Amino acid sequence: MIDVIQGLDKTGKTWYNDSMRIDVLGVGFDSMTSKEAVSHACEILNGDKKAYIVTPNPEIVWMCRHDKRLLSVVNDAELVLPDGIGVILGARILGTPLREKIPGIDFADALFAEMAKTGKSVYLYGAKPGIAEEAARRLAEKYPGLKIVGVSDGYSDDGPVIEQINAVCPDLLLVCLGAPKQEFWIEENLDQLNVKLCAGLGGSLDVYAGAVKRAPVVFRKLGLEWFYRLIREPRRITRMCKLPLFVLTVILRRLRRVK
Ligand code: UDP
Repeated sequence: MIDVIQGLDKTGKTWYNDSMRIDVLGVGFDSMTSKEAVSHACEILNGDKKAYIVTPNPEIVWMCRHDKRLLSVVNDAELVLPDGIGVILGARILGTPLREKIPGIDFADALFAEMAKTGKSVYLYGAKPGIAEEAARRLAEKYPGLKIVGVSDGYSDDGPVIEQINAVCPDLLLVCLGAPKQEFWIEENLDQLNVKLCAGLGGSLDVYAGAVKRAPVVFRKLGLEWFYRLIREPRRITRMCKLPLFVLTVILRRLRRVK
């Protein structure tokens, strides 16, 4: 038996009826192209329903296996996008391939480009002091038309942050506090936020600000972005140790199904 969660129709929109969620160790990923994901996000931005998006990598899937609350926050998201080759590989091994890898940062880039066309607004929350400001400066240059209506670092008291966000009512809120902090933050605060869409995007602001260099395209194409990050930040080794465990568990699950 293959675990496939079919047709989660949350928006009532017919195009989404064809979509399905693919189960990778308990996390249901949306099997769609990047274009479809952006188009769905735009529908949310143009609608009147509040929603959030998560972009789990194998490390987050692994966390979900040991944290039921995180699992339910992730699975309750409007879009669950596969960030990283590990998830793609896992789904393939399980016999239920996902259509496309959609790294959170690429998704955000494509979404900003669409938002810029209609003058939509975004608030950047997270990372060390000064990073979100620099990210905002660079994004404003890259996407003229995109309204960056506020920034807050991810280390100050979040009470005032919520007030600041609500004072400007952004269409999109990027929550970049790392996992699982950002997912829990979204779960706890979504109800009181005056936003259309929240997206948990890990270390993206560091990349936008130029504080962290993204892997060159050749690494990304070969599915070796994780390896590049490991070389640049060897302290990530303890986090990345979960990757082989993830793959092994996926293989064992597949073998159990085949028997
Ligand atoms: N971070 C934050 N507040 C915290 C903890 C972390 O704003 O209390 C930020 C951190 O500065 C970094 C991001 O969250 O910008 C996490 O980045 P990481 O590369 O670990 O996330 P990943 O992309 O791997 O999920």
